[in-house]
Amino acid sequence: MGEILTYTLLQRLDSLEKVFRANLQLANTLRNYISRKLEELRKREGSDFSLKIMDFCGTHEWTIVHFGLRSLMPKGIELVAGPGCPVCVTPSYYIEQAIRLSLEGITIYTYGDTFKLPAINPVDGVSSLEEARARGGRVKLALSLMDAIRDAKATGKDSLFLGIGFETVAPGYARALVADMLPPNLKLLSLVKLTPPAMFYSLDILRDKPTDAPVMGVIAPGHVSTVTGAKAWVPVAEHFGIPVVVSGFEPIDVLSSIAEIMRQLVNREASVKIEYTRAVTWQGDLKTQAMIHRAFEVADDAWRGIGFIPLSGLRIREKYSKNDAREAYGIRELTPAEWKKDTPPGCRCAEVTLGKAKPTDCPMFMKKCTPEKPYGPCMVSIEGTCAVWARFGGGGLAQEIAAELEQI
Ligand code: SF4
Repeated sequence: MGEILTYTLLQRLDSLEKVFRANLQLANTLRNYISRKLEELRKREGSDFSLKIMDFCGTHEWTIVHFGLRSLMPKGIELVAGPGCPVCVTPSYYIEQAIRLSLEGITIYTYGDTFKLPAINPVDGVSSLEEARARGGRVKLALSLMDAIRDAKATGKDSLFLGIGFETVAPGYARALVADMLPPNLKLLSLVKLTPPAMFYSLDILRDKPTDAPVMGVIAPGHVSTVTGAKAWVPVAEHFGIPVVVSGFEPIDVLSSIAEIMRQLVNREASVKIEYTRAVTWQGDLKTQAMIHRAFEVADDAWRGIGFIPLSGLRIREKYSKNDAREAYGIRELTPAEWKKDTPPGCRCAEVTLGKAKPTDCPMFMKKCTPEKPYGPCMVSIEGTCAVWARFGGGGLAQEIAAELEQI
């Protein structure tokens, strides 16, 4: 039985690969379709009309850069990354609190990509959890909250789980709280952020620069939408009057989503569509949404480099306060008055996460700031735009090759 399941799964993965990744013919068809639609728009709006499409999520940016999709876009369509990397936008303040606690002997459980995240204000000369561990601080890498629960039960040590993420991590945390799974010695620091308010915020900011080509479509995160449902993006489409397409993460998914955005623009439509139908529904996972609501309340939240975004974070409800690290370890909430710009001097991460600048616009990119030694927060996680561009190139070489091919 197990073998049959494995075989079926491999077959399915193989056909997914053929359809959504290694499918040059379809990629070419989509590319031509996108170019044709741009031409149609230019006939209507003017010959120099150009537009931007925001890929909100770090995983989409990874796909776009890794597979060189920017190089497939005709001149006049620019893909801009959004604030969809939770590690990049976690305020330095909470990393500083975690460093402090680790040096005081509290075990900090953290995901691997937060380990090197630089804090703006060193604690006793220590600027990251990695450095804290080197100085004898108690820092352990964990793959999930369940991992931390197992370890904390085994050690019995006072500990804290750094709960960083978007809506995708909230179901696991909510389940652990509602089912009372955390041992008394383990507390959860909820730093969960909500993506629709951030999308609103970044689109608003980008509209403030009327000299630039407008953002006229959004590629919305597929994994977040498995929880929230595509309906979560309706206010964005309605408020800004632009198409939003919930996309999967393979290159054909992303190209299909861009094609759908272009189709809608030509037809003067502005609706939410699901491209990622193999995982996302309109309503999302209603049971999980209810469980998240039971465990958490929505609060205004600080985003690193950006500031407070209304109703963009999840805090543990009073009912589960015995599990809340804020209560147990005296971690105060940041207030808008206290929040200060928390990116290091010269780092343009805030502009990068808002789609206002490219990593290569930052003079420190691949000089003072590299994946091995990140200076700013966008260079740490594999979902950070600067880290993705550093690892796979920002389209430079691919762009040159595409330009050459166009001349042949
Ligand atoms: S390259 Fe580094 S310093 Fe520059 S914006 Fe990106 S993260 Fe910040």
